[in-house]
Amino acid sequence: MDKGCIFVISGTSGVGKSTVLAKVMEKRKDLIFSVSATTRAPRPGEKEGVDYYFVTQEQFRKMIDQDEFLEYDAHMNNSYGTPKAQVEEKRKKGHVILDIDPNGAYQVRTSCPEAVLIFIAPPSMEELERRLRGRGDTSPEQMELRLHRARWELAQQEKYDYVVVNNQVDACVDEILKIIEEKAN
Ligand code: 5GP
Repeated sequence: MDKGCIFVISGTSGVGKSTVLAKVMEKRKDLIFSVSATTRAPRPGEKEGVDYYFVTQEQFRKMIDQDEFLEYDAHMNNSYGTPKAQVEEKRKKGHVILDIDPNGAYQVRTSCPEAVLIFIAPPSMEELERRLRGRGDTSPEQMELRLHRARWELAQQEKYDYVVVNNQVDACVDEILKIIEEKAN
């Protein structure tokens, strides 16, 4: 293999993206997850260097200044970015999966036009709202913020190469695996 593919996966909070991604990666061992840097605090169970590189605002700013990001963006009051060198290194070994938001996806598209952009969509906005409210772990203000963000993200799906609806997890996983198979082989 000359250089692995870049697969960008986006999907709004509550769409079930982590579950889908974990299953996709379980099925294809040649996929390597791109670990982002973020200024957000780690959640329980999240591991440094596995889920994210947890950095301070100053460290993040320095990484921007030193042109270390393939893409970066700020949303929900935190900054997130994909370290460029890491992606290039991982592409030497396999296909790289980036779990990033639509703004990041457009930046990747600009610098790597060959990247494959996949959007995971909920069956409907109503269903997404039901799933988000069902979690019951957020304040009303935080919920409004999430819903506002979700509406914006859903409006971006037409800019992706593929939109896969997560109505049923295994079907969604199979659909993504089919896309990867088509592009990566
Ligand atoms: P969370 O804080 O829940 O882990 O992630 C929130 C959102 O940030 C998700 O939609 C995720 O895709 C996005 N995200 C994670 N890493 C990156 C990154 O490196 N760049 C961009 N643009 N978005 C990211």
